[in-house]
Amino acid sequence: MDCLFCKIIAGEIPSSKVYEDENVYAFRDINPQAPVHVLVVPKTHICCADKIDAANSACIARIFEAIPKIAAQEGLTNGYRIINNCGEDGCQTVKHLHFHILGGKKLPENMG
Ligand code: AMP
Ligand code: ZN
Repeated sequence: MDCLFCKIIAGEIPSSKVYEDENVYAFRDINPQAPVHVLVVPKTHICCADKIDAANSACIARIFEAIPKIAAQEGLTNGYRIINNCGEDGCQTVKHLHFHILGGKKLPENMG
């Protein structure tokens, strides 16, 4: 499958890994929008949040279990933002479900 994040998970394309377990992979965004900008992805390919259903939703729990560990590791003791862009209007550019963790500064209040 021609998917950038599947290739990153497989190690075919290099990434700056910050966390990995059986179900989840996390790495630094190549174009950081904050002092800490990490992408958290399921190891199984799901294109976007709109394709979550009862059969695959366990991966969401695994991701949200990993996020506090990643935040602690990154020193985000004062909070952070979790973002998911979905589809065209959400400006999703990589079609493998991912959650952005942004932090390390006071983030703008505007959510678009
Ligand atoms: P989105 O716009 O929500 O689909 O986010 C995709 C993100 O992937 C963007 O923030 C990009 O900067 C990031 N990105 C694209 N290619 C890479 C890469 N090779 N390594 C790390 N992050 C990447
Ligand atoms: Zn993929």
